[in-house]
Amino acid sequence: KERNAHEPEFLQAVEEVAETVIPYIVQHDIYYGKNVLLRMVEPERLISFRVCWVDDSGEIQVNRGYRIQMNSAIGPYKGGLRFHPTVNASILKFLAFEQVFKNSLTTLPMGGGKGGSDFDPKGKSDNEIMRFCHAFMSELFRHIGPNTDIPAGDIGVGQREIGFLFGMYRKLRNEFTGVLTGKGLTWGGSLIRPEATGYGTVYFAESMLKTKNDSFEGKTVVISGSGNVAQYAAEKAIQLGAKVVTLSDSSGYIYDEEGIDAEKLKFVMQLKNEKRGRISEYLEEYPNAKFEKGKTPWHEKCDIALPCATQNELDGDDAKALLSNGCMCVSEGANMPSTKKAIAEFHKAKILFAPGKASNAGGVATSGLEMTQNSLRYKWTREEVDKKLKEIMADIHESCTEYGKEEDGYIDYVKGANIAGFVKVADAMLAQGVV
Ligand code: NDP
Repeated sequence: KERNAHEPEFLQAVEEVAETVIPYIVQHDIYYGKNVLLRMVEPERLISFRVCWVDDSGEIQVNRGYRIQMNSAIGPYKGGLRFHPTVNASILKFLAFEQVFKNSLTTLPMGGGKGGSDFDPKGKSDNEIMRFCHAFMSELFRHIGPNTDIPAGDIGVGQREIGFLFGMYRKLRNEFTGVLTGKGLTWGGSLIRPEATGYGTVYFAESMLKTKNDSFEGKTVVISGSGNVAQYAAEKAIQLGAKVVTLSDSSGYIYDEEGIDAEKLKFVMQLKNEKRGRISEYLEEYPNAKFEKGKTPWHEKCDIALPCATQNELDGDDAKALLSNGCMCVSEGANMPSTKKAIAEFHKAKILFAPGKASNAGGVATSGLEMTQNSLRYKWTREEVDKKLKEIMADIHESCTEYGKEEDGYIDYVKGANIAGFVKVADAMLAQGVV
C-alpha cells in the first residue's frame, strides 16, 4: 500500500482482488506463504517514454507514452492502449492488473498488459492522429512483438489508430505479423472483433439472467458511453428484444423513452465513428429524446444497466438509485466502472452483478482468436468467431459460478472472477519458480 500510495485507481483494483483472494490463499496451503499476490501486484516491467510529434500548425507537441507489462506467466502480455488526457501510471497499472485476471478467465494463453498516452485525440485532425500514432510506435516497437506483447485498442484507440500504429511497426520491423489486434479485415483483422466486447457483455448478462430463468426480452436497458463497447452492447441488447433508452459521452446522456432502435443506433454509430460528433447531436435527428448535460444515466428507470464508458462512473448513490428503480442486473462493459460502494450496494441487494474482468472479457478473448488466425494465416467466418465468443463467455460464467457461489445460492461474481483468474496465473507462477 505504501509503495503505491500515490496510485488510487491501482490500489482500488488491488484491494478489490485482495479482499476475495486473500481468504482463499489462507485456506489453501499451496498458495499460502509464497507471496504470490505480492508478486502479482508488481509489474514485470513498466516502460515510460517521450512521444514528440508536430501538430498541424507546425508546433512541436510532447506527450508521455507507457506500456505496463504486468504478468506473462501464462502467455505473452496482452491488453489495450488508451489515449486520453487522464492517462497516468496509476490508471494503466489498474487496467494492467485487471487484465491479468481477465485474460486468465478467457481460457486462452494470454498474460496481461496495458499501455497508452496522455494524448487527447479529441479535436485532432486525421493527420495529427497519424503523426502521433507513428511517433508513439517509433518507441513502442522495440518492446512488443507477436510472441512478447500484443497491444490492442481501448478508449481513444479504435481501428483508425490501430492502422497507423500497425503501419509504423511493419515499416520499422520489416515484417507483417499479428503484433496488434483490432486490425482491419483486409490486413489481418478478425470478424466480430469490433463487436466482441459489447456483445460479450450482453452474452454474460444473458447467462446471469438465465440463472433466474429470465432474459433480455422486453427489458428496459440503460447504457453509458457511446463508443465501441456501448454501441455493440446496445446492438446486441436490441437484437435480444430489449428496449435501450440511454447512451452517453463525457458531456452528458441522452434518454429516448421510445427506445433507441436499430435505425437510431446506426445514426449514433455514424455520428460517433465517422463524424466524431457529440451524443447531444442525437436530438437534432430525434427531437423527442432529452439530453441531460453533465450527468450519468443511472437515475433513469431500468431493469438492466450496462456501464460501458469509463472507471468509477457509477458510485454508491447511483447504485442506490438503480436499485430503488427496480434494476435487477448490472453487467460491466467498461473496466471498473462501479466504485467499491456501488458494488457493496449491489451485493447487499443480492442482484445480478458482473465485474468487468468477467463480463467485458469478450473483447480480449476475440483478440486472442485474432492472434490464432494470424498464426494460422487463416480466417474464420463471422459465425465461427461469434460461436467461439459465446462459448468463452459461457465458460467464464461457469468459472465465476464455481468459485463464487455462496451457501444461500447467491453467486458473487466478483469473488468468482477474482479467484478463478488468480488460480491459473498463480499455479503457473509457482510452477516456474521465483523469476
Ligand atoms: P471509446 O473511446 O470507443 O468510447 C469511450 C466512451 O466513454 C465514449 O462515449 C466517451 O465519451 C466515454 N468516456 C470516456 N471517458 C469518459 C469520462 N471520463 N467520463 C464520461 N464518459 C467518458 O472506448 P471503448 O468503448 O473502447 O471503451 C469503454 C470502456 O470499455 C473502457 O473502460 C475500456 O477500458 C473498456 N473496455 C474496452 C474494450 C474494447 O475492446 N474496446 C475491452 C474491454 C474493456 P467521449 O467521447 O466524450 O470521451
